[in-house]
Amino acid sequence: MHNFFTQLFAEISAAYNHPDFIHPDFQTIIDNHEALNQKLEAVFTAYMALAPAGKAQVQQAYSNNNNIEQVCNNTVRPVKFDELPAGIQDPLKALYGSKGTLYQMLTAKDNYEAVKNKCGSLKGHFEKFRGQNPISVCPFCGMENLMTEYEDGKNEYDHYLSKNDYPFCSINFNNLTPICDICNKPGYKGQKDIPFQPNTNPQIQDELYDPYSIAYPEHVIDLKINSTSTDLKDVDDWTLSIDCTPIGNVRKKDRWLEIYKIESRYKGKIAGDSYKWKDRIVSKYALRCKRKGIPFADFKEDILDDFATPLKWNNGILMKCFDEFIMNDLNCEANLSGTIF
Ligand SMILES: [Zn+2]
Repeated sequence: MHNFFTQLFAEISAAYNHPDFIHPDFQTIIDNHEALNQKLEAVFTAYMALAPAGKAQVQQAYSNNNNIEQVCNNTVRPVKFDELPAGIQDPLKALYGSKGTLYQMLTAKDNYEAVKNKCGSLKGHFEKFRGQNPISVCPFCGMENLMTEYEDGKNEYDHYLSKNDYPFCSINFNNLTPICDICNKPGYKGQKDIPFQPNTNPQIQDELYDPYSIAYPEHVIDLKINSTSTDLKDVDDWTLSIDCTPIGNVRKKDRWLEIYKIESRYKGKIAGDSYKWKDRIVSKYALRCKRKGIPFADFKEDILDDFATPLKWNNGILMKCFDEFIMNDLNCEANLSGTIF
């Protein structure tokens, strides 16, 4: 696709002839798929009919929307589909839209092998992603484990910038990321138009985490349970602080909380499962300290070390936060050895 748009924007020819516009690796696919060729030709015709200002707008949209990193940093504004010149909207929708999408055509049975050989498959991307990434959990919520690269299937892929609002980046791998089922649901991340703050008119763009950025090496999310009781079943009885360092990323962190409904999900999981996590500490205390005579300080160190790499475990970040809440309580030892806990 990139080849097609590069040639189109350069206006290398006044007439559409697909060998001029399609990368040589994909000629056969286009040769065998006249419907796709017609969709590309319709985009060509609509683009060529635009006034210079309209053409510039389309070029800007293509460039901006594929610059995922700068969009996330709020230094480039993405151009939404309905802001494009009216004349090119229908041909683009036909090319990228939900019926007979470009993606569906490229992955159709007769084309898939050819595309896979040239570009790799989503499953291949998934295996590489899982193989290279030491983090096992969903990259967006950090809660549930993704599937492993050794299983037959793969998790769903999310269009980080939604394909409906920003079709130009819908087949850009920097905009495609494995995601867990909950984060991908409508009502959570779903198809939200995430570069902009919700319920703002005119819309206000804001910062986002860039899923593939390596620009956050020191970034840490710090979770802290604030409660006077270890009974956390009623979420209204306690609060969860979710802070980040460095503080310069706080806008990104706050957008993340809002988009994925992180606070209520984290609190819900802690409320529902912390009784099991508490039982685990109580029985370990009974075994190690009461029966084996291990000093409390050593026991505490062991427990706090259990989730030293929390992103390798299902809900490890929440269990780590719960262990810290229990073990750092000044009355912890008395509570564990007594009857109050
Ligand atoms: Zn998730």
